[in-house]
Amino acid sequence: MPLVAANWKMNPTNVDDALDLVRGVMSVARGQADKVEVAIFPPFVWLTAVAEVLFESGVKLGAQNAFWEMSGAYTGEISPAMLKTLCQWVIIGHSERRLFVGETDEMVAKKTAAALSSELSVIMCVGELADHYDAGTSDQVVSTQVKAGLASCSADDSARLVIAYEPVWAIGSGKSADPEHAYKTMRLIRKIVGEMIGAGAARKVRILYGGSVKPENVQQYVELPLCDGVLVGGASLVADEFAHIVKVTAEVYGHR
Ligand code: PEP
Repeated sequence: MPLVAANWKMNPTNVDDALDLVRGVMSVARGQADKVEVAIFPPFVWLTAVAEVLFESGVKLGAQNAFWEMSGAYTGEISPAMLKTLCQWVIIGHSERRLFVGETDEMVAKKTAAALSSELSVIMCVGELADHYDAGTSDQVVSTQVKAGLASCSADDSARLVIAYEPVWAIGSGKSADPEHAYKTMRLIRKIVGEMIGAGAARKVRILYGGSVKPENVQQYVELPLCDGVLVGGASLVADEFAHIVKVTAEVYGHR
């Protein structure tokens, strides 16, 4: 089943707006639950309140980050074991964390392994910077990130593992990637995952596109043969836009 994921980032700044937003997408998301998996990733502090609204709706909940230890003296961190009490999903290695908080491939690998061991489903994000894209080195950068990030993963993790290909230059920029470029990179990702955990298991790993996905351009990505859905930032903060993205995805996969 395709996955449409809403990364709210550090928004909204109050719980009432968070609840309005989640209620706004619920009716559409719930109605498509047999065709598309929808997961919402609010900031940590709104997880409990959003979880109450989502209860038994079929719409999934996730966090935007998790630490690699389960408990202990790690001030300010949140563990996968804690998250597991509230949600089903976690995003690991988003480019904004790599860029602003200095998350390395090694940290991403440890976080991914810890989250999977806690039975969370993981969206691990990879993607090249504009300089890499311009220099034609996107493939090398993405392969390195995938190989490093999945270093401790095995075939058993495949059903709970999602890789989001998000060219960093496309995130929040309004410059969505050419679908041909997205397709080639997603094909490369699937090949590498196959080499790492076996081709059969790799087929169960879902691969998403992310980067300025909007109602107007979502179709060109979800129609790509290897694309299992989208990770949406900015447009997920507007209930109607996100609902439209969910509907288009459900329609496209309904015809496959
Ligand atoms: C993201 O944050 O993962 C993202 C893809 O953002 P946007 O849709 O705003 O480009």
